[in-house]
Amino acid sequence: MSQSLESESRKLLGRLRDTLAEDGAGQERLNRITHLIADSMHTEVCSIYLFRDSETLELCATEGLKAEAVHQTRMRIGEGLVGRVAKSKRIVNTADAPSSKGFRYMPETGEEIYSSFLGLPIQRLGDTLGVLVVQSKEARQFSDDELYALEVVAMVLAEMTELGAFVGEESALGALHQNPVMFRGATGQEGVAEGHVYLHEPRVVVTNPVADDPDVELERLRDAVNTLRISVDEMLSGVDTKEKDQREVLEAYRMFANSSSWLRRMETDISRGLSAEAAVEKEQSLARTRLSNVPDAYLRERLHDLDDLSNRMLRILTGQGSDTGAEMPDDPILIARNIGPGELLEYGKSLRGIVLEQGSVGSHAAIVARALAIPLVIHAAKITTKALNGDAILVDGDQGVVHLRPEDSVAAAFRDKIAMQTEASKAYIDLVDKKATTPCGKTIALHMNAGLMADLPSLGSSGAEGVGLFRTELQFLIRNSVPKRGELATLYSHVMDAARGKRVAFRTLDIGSDKVLPYMKPQDEPNPAMGWRAIRVGLDKRGVMRMQLQALIRACAGRPLTIMFPFVAQFEEFRAARAMVDAELANEERLGHVLPTSVEVGAMLETPSLAFAPNQFFIETDFISIGGNDLKQFFFAADRENERVRRRYDTLNVSFLSFIRQIVDRCDAHGTPVSFCGEDAGRPLEAICFAAMGLKSLSMRPASIGPIKHVLRQVNLDAVAQLIDSAATRGEQTVRTDVAAYLADQGITP
Ligand code: PEP
Ligand code: MG
Repeated sequence: MSQSLESESRKLLGRLRDTLAEDGAGQERLNRITHLIADSMHTEVCSIYLFRDSETLELCATEGLKAEAVHQTRMRIGEGLVGRVAKSKRIVNTADAPSSKGFRYMPETGEEIYSSFLGLPIQRLGDTLGVLVVQSKEARQFSDDELYALEVVAMVLAEMTELGAFVGEESALGALHQNPVMFRGATGQEGVAEGHVYLHEPRVVVTNPVADDPDVELERLRDAVNTLRISVDEMLSGVDTKEKDQREVLEAYRMFANSSSWLRRMETDISRGLSAEAAVEKEQSLARTRLSNVPDAYLRERLHDLDDLSNRMLRILTGQGSDTGAEMPDDPILIARNIGPGELLEYGKSLRGIVLEQGSVGSHAAIVARALAIPLVIHAAKITTKALNGDAILVDGDQGVVHLRPEDSVAAAFRDKIAMQTEASKAYIDLVDKKATTPCGKTIALHMNAGLMADLPSLGSSGAEGVGLFRTELQFLIRNSVPKRGELATLYSHVMDAARGKRVAFRTLDIGSDKVLPYMKPQDEPNPAMGWRAIRVGLDKRGVMRMQLQALIRACAGRPLTIMFPFVAQFEEFRAARAMVDAELANEERLGHVLPTSVEVGAMLETPSLAFAPNQFFIETDFISIGGNDLKQFFFAADRENERVRRRYDTLNVSFLSFIRQIVDRCDAHGTPVSFCGEDAGRPLEAICFAAMGLKSLSMRPASIGPIKHVLRQVNLDAVAQLIDSAATRGEQTVRTDVAAYLADQGITP
């Protein structure tokens, strides 16, 4: 770009800054801006369209089109040329607008007389806020230089829109951060919570997008890049050469931080009038837009690295650390794009709720949230850009819905829901010491699932008879390296102490699939859920399994030990694993160590194949625990992590229930104790049906024990079993409606 154009765009930005600095309401400012742009660009028309809601754009200011059209003309995303720009997030630049694809004639604006059209998305960090349009009568293509200048203006507009500079009475000018917004995500952990936003990584606010003096800005940029390079080098030198994955990420950071083209592009932006911060953000925005279009996972990761690096740069330039000094509210709801299990544990139980933009049902964060019983909603798209620290927020983990800055009526309805749940949980306290005995005389043992020390206090408060599933991988997931045998033995021993004589079924490491250890080499398997995971890893990499078994044996010296192996698909695997337990016990004895008073070794039934194992398997295993989460995904061949299919098949499908009954019958025939420990055990209708299928033991999250006991104590399981049988006879697919109707009929509220 020529020197003269550089100063042209600087001039334009300078005028823009002055305009923005003038007093005036939002509408007035927008009017002045459209006038200024049309004047500087020598075009007859300049218009600004902003999103009124996620689907509709509204003409908010114009120079050149009919003034009456302002706040009247609206279009849906994708509609007309303006809608096309918003949808594609791409520039449309044409000398012959009327014959362009998507052109829509809008008589109220008098637009047909304008032949040339240049539309640019008003974008901030990959988020489209509106469209900036210039039009002229003369049929001409706008030059690259003009385009550049407008791109920069669009960016500044986005920044100012975000900062609320155009807030006014009119509908589309409502402050971005004042309106109520609802997010429809997915359930990560059930439960509801009301509180105030606490941002895990508050976004950096750029208040000065336009530079006063380019030379000063250039120097600030170079200084910041230097600081960044030094800090990346320091991080790298602090990482062990063996930590290959961590080094790889940091090497990528270093590559970006030293990239001369990255620096050059930002320098060019500054010379055209942007501040150093705005130049960094412009690059970051570009990267984010690219990110959404890159199919390659590796490249996506690298673009994430660049995004992270840009945030670091912005923090250096603005002096805003990730700790902005924002006080944590008393009732914090944590908002993050994503979060690691270790970080989440640091927040611990102080959080009322968690909302993530990314995440998955089986992610480590979800596992920890579940362990801490904190409601979690995942896939809440763009919430980190919409929420501000301290905003009021409601999290409905049951429905996967979040209300940010809710209307009073929504908040009131929500509070009623919370009050009802609190009321119910008070009633459950009276049940803590009572048994889950049904009116038909059957008693179901209710156990809880756990994985952290923090879970153990629930053993007393929930009334659980023991821990039916202790997920030992959580301790591995929250660390940066493999824990040592001594550390594990101490931890397991504390778990046993806290259980005060109640039974704890320790499940050996279930890693692989969705549970990837930070220090484990990723396997890059085509289908990890059916890949090298759980007992398969344990039998192949015997060192870690042996170490874990030794730790368990030592922790339970002089008291009973219960071990279960995950994901056993065939009898031989169980036999081999059990032989390892026996060998370790013999070894400990040889060393003269005190042994556990008794040892129970069981298998998790998570693959349909094990239900058809030889009788001898049922004789040799001390107990069976049905891992319904996995079993269901393999029974229906529907990935439990895939939002598209995971709810497609109902757990109360008669085929699945009859499969459960077959498993129970086989266990009963051999006197093998059997329980169910998947998430479904904690859902009332499911729990009733499982009990009706003959299961006498269920293990669930502690918060479900009260509600399940409450229902079981009122329900006639023989009647439910009959209902299921008759539904099967009639050829019905699921018994959900029938069972719900039966409960309603009996006046039982789950
Ligand atoms: C299961 O699969 O049901 C289970 C309890 O194990 P996880 O959810 O940890 O895979
Ligand atoms: Mg499982």
